Amino acid sequence: MNVRSMLDQKGADVATIGVGGSLSDAAARLRDLGIGALVVTDDGDSIAGILSERDVVRAVASHGASALGRTVGSVMTTQVVTCVAADTVEHVMTLMTDRRIRHVPVVDGEDRLRGIVSIGDVVKARLQELRFENEALTEYLHQGR
Ligand code: AMP
Repeated sequence: MNVRSMLDQKGADVATIGVGGSLSDAAARLRDLGIGALVVTDDGDSIAGILSERDVVRAVASHGASALGRTVGSVMTTQVVTCVAADTVEHVMTLMTDRRIRHVPVVDGEDRLRGIVSIGDVVKARLQELRFENEALTEYLHQGR
């Protein structure tokens, strides 16, 4: 299975926030949408960074409640790890494990934002793959009887 089929299943919607938004806005958005990260972009296409709940916790631990008034741009991660639609689920899993990240935005050939996959999407896709493999092997074994 690849990233394209994951996006076909879950949709290509990406929750985003602008660079100038406050951390308080970001926290409210994460809460309202029930998600763990926002892609930071001003035009919806080019990725300026990514902000996860971990960044919010880190900022509050370092700066106290005043952190919530800081801008998203001052707290986000700017070196964003991305993937493309043709990448396999296994490749994205490896990226997440090696880089210790739980969200990977999907970009097209021009680096434009086209979707996002979370660790939850990857686990779901991998379970599906394993279920298919298991069914195929069981069928094969029964045919041999
Ligand atoms: P997460 O595991 O996604 O909650 O994020 C953990 C840390 O990694 C946070 O500091 C995020 O800003 C950063 N992060 C999350 N996703 C990415 C990504 N795709 N590329 C680079 N950094 C990321």
